[in-house]
Parts: sequence; structure tokens; C-alpha cells
Amino acid sequence: MPESLPTAVAVLRDQMQSLIDEQLRPLEEQLSDDPTAAVPAEIAQAAREHSRQAGMWAMTQPADFGGVEAGTLALTTVRETLSAANLRLGRYVFGPGPGVLASAEGQLRDAYLEPAMRGEKRGAFAFTEPTGADAPRPTWAARDGDEFVITGRKAFVTGGATADYYTALVNVEAGDGPDQPEGTAMIVIDRESPGVTIEREFRSLEGGDHIAMRLEAVRVPAWHVVGKVGEGMPRALRNIGNVRMSVAAQACGIAQWSVGFAEDHITSAHRTGQRLADREGVRLRYAEMRINAFAMRSMLYRTARLVEEGGDDAVNEVMATKVFCTEQVGQIVDQAVQLCGGGSLIEGHPLERLYREVRSMRFIEGASDILRINIARGRIEFDSGRL
Ligand SMILES: Cc1cc2nc3c(=O)[nH]c(=O)nc-3n(C[C@H](O)[C@H](O)[C@H](O)COP(=O)(O)OP(=O)(O)OC[C@H]3O[C@@H](n4cnc5c(N)ncnc54)[C@H](O)[C@@H]3O)c2cc1C
Repeated sequence: MPESLPTAVAVLRDQMQSLIDEQLRPLEEQLSDDPTAAVPAEIAQAAREHSRQAGMWAMTQPADFGGVEAGTLALTTVRETLSAANLRLGRYVFGPGPGVLASAEGQLRDAYLEPAMRGEKRGAFAFTEPTGADAPRPTWAARDGDEFVITGRKAFVTGGATADYYTALVNVEAGDGPDQPEGTAMIVIDRESPGVTIEREFRSLEGGDHIAMRLEAVRVPAWHVVGKVGEGMPRALRNIGNVRMSVAAQACGIAQWSVGFAEDHITSAHRTGQRLADREGVRLRYAEMRINAFAMRSMLYRTARLVEEGGDDAVNEVMATKVFCTEQVGQIVDQAVQLCGGGSLIEGHPLERLYREVRSMRFIEGASDILRINIARGRIEFDSGRL
């Protein structure tokens, strides 16, 4: 529970809170009132620098790159604390993590992981396949000597237009062709490789930039495979597991902020002359928000501890937590909008932005219903998962 953290984690939480209160909030006050305006580079840089000095920047980075490689409980705690502050500068606090390249070795480490950790190269995650009548079979790779020849399409690659490379999930064929799959692999593909075409750039509701892309006989050297052929899906899922916990922590932070915002509103003067908080119907809604936020946080911290203790053994609980927290935060923000009135839907209002932001959380890193199906499968077919 967030109340009974190990001392070292509680210290980190307090350090994050000090960073927020003493450095980030004053910086945030220098931003323009227009929440859609770009953050000036010098302010973003100052936020990064404060975070470095506070020891937060390195928490997401591997130890052999000078990072702290914090455990799941510590990361969950600081992420939730940061999210509960609802700062536009929050995205400059953590350094780039290794993602699926975490265990890259040899040439792959030198050419991609190290530059990525130094901030010189940026990757994007190409997992989702397009749907629709003209969708081809899932992206596949055939071996040709020391190379793979990759063909297919990917949809919804966040940050893909400006990424230097993509870590893509592909099905590798055995020599005998598509009916003889060898296994899945995560393969690094340079954006500039011949055969890579960005078909469409688009922006989603919460403001993220994405691409859809086509891969036509793209040749990549065999050393671009992360790990081995056959390890693609488990590697992608391991990375997704970490990100799911961070999405759940972010959802819990947003829920806390929204409950607090609604509370301030209903306990302030209202034009009717009676505080909204003095009406029983409003209290019922407000209490529901608190109940759900309490349940979310309880689940988040229990799962964080399970991950820390058992690693991959908590895969079902991570999925359950991601589904629950992202669905509940949707309800909470929706209720906050309802209690705060139509003014909270005006462009630029913090609840208006959060209302858009939380909707995408039910798709990213696995759509809710797909995760539900996986949870049921985990129990019924593999006898795994806890209550
Ligand atoms: C903001 C945002 C950022 C994203 N970033 C990335 C990224 O960086 N890289 C990347 O690869 N992808 C990314 N995605 C894509 C995301 O992973 C997918 O949207 C998600 O996996 C769902 O796939 P889909 O959109 O194709 O929907 P579908 O797979 O078509 O599913 C649509 C709905 O159909 C139902 N459904 C589908 N299959 C089943 C089933 N087997 N059983 C029961 N019901 C089912 C579910 O209700 C589901 O929600 C992003 C998405 C968003 C919204």
C-alpha cells in the first residue's frame, strides 16, 4: 500500500515531491496559458536538469549506462506522485529507457542501445498491425544469407515520423516459406532503409503523433534481431509489462488529481448560494470517485510488490491492474467533469485535456478486452493468476 512503503522508496517519493514543489511548479508558471503551445526548449531543458540533480532522470535507465535501474515499486511510486501533480513538464522528468533493446549486446548495443541512452538516437515501437479488408498477412521476414528481408505493414507507431529506427515484431519464416514459421522476432529497422515507406502521419485525441508504415522487402542484417528468433513476442510482452505498470501508475496519479480538483470545486461557493458539497446527490458521486481511486491505488501497489518479488509471475496481475486503473480513471475524470460543470470542457481546461488523455489509455499497451481475454486464458488454460 502507498502507506507502508520501504523507507528507501518513501524517501524517493518525498524527493519527487520536493522536485515538483520546489523546481517544476515554479518553472511551469513560466509557461504560456495556452496548454497546446509548445514548451520552450530552455524550460524543457531546465526541467530535465532539475530532474537529473534530484536523481529522478536516471531511475528509468540501466545501471551500466549510469542509471539507477529502479525497481518496480520505486518507479511506480515516483511515477504516480509525478502524475498526481498534473504538470505539463512531467514528460521531461524521466530519461529514455532501453525498451525492448534492454538486453541488446554486441553490434546492436553499440549501434542502437548506446546512442539511444545518450539521447542521440530515438526508437519507436512497431507492434500493431493494420486491420481492414486490404490488410496483408502479419509482417514477416525471410532469411537471405546474413540478412532478413522484411515485408508487411505496421499501424499506429507513436513517434514514428521522427524516430531513427523501429523495433518491430515480425514473424520469421523457416526456409520453406510462410507455412513454416520459425518464430517471432523483434528486429531493428532503420527509418531510412530502402523499402520503408511512411504511408500516413496522424494525431490521436490525446495529442500523440503516430504513423502507419509499409515495409517492402526491407533488408536488415541478421544482427538487428534483438536476442534470438523465437523470442520476439516474449520480449515485446516483457517490455509491454513494464509500460503497463507505468500507464497504471499514471492513471492513479490522474485519478488523485481529479478527485482533489473536484473536491475543491464542490466545497467552494456556488451560484445557488449553497455549496455543491452540501447536496447529498453530489456527495454520492464524490464518494464513488474516492472509492474507485482507493481501489485503484490499492491494486497498483499490491501488483508493484508482486512484480518486484516475482517478475514474470505477475503478468496476469499487471494486465488486471492496467485494465482496472485505466477504466476507473476514465470514470473518475468523467465524474469530475460532471461535477465541475460545462466550463471544464472548454478547450484549455485541465479536465478537458485529461478527459481526452485517459481515453487512449484503454488502448495503449493492449486494449482492455484483449487483456481480459488473456487473463481468462491465463487462468483457464495455464492455471495462473491470483485473486
Ligand atoms: C495513443 C495510442 C498510442 C499507440 N501507440 C502504439 C505504438 O507506439 N506502437 C504500436 O505498435 N501500437 C500502438 N498503438 C496501438 C494499440 O496498441 C492498439 O490500438 C491496440 O493494441 C488495439 O488494436 P487495434 O486498434 O488494432 O484494435 P482491434 O485489435 O481491431 O480491436 C478493437 C476492439 O475489438 C475488440 N476485439 C479485438 N480483438 C478481439 C478478440 N480477440 N476478442 C474479443 N474482442 C476483440 C476489442 O473490444 C477491441 O478493443 C497505440 C494506440 C493508441 C490509441
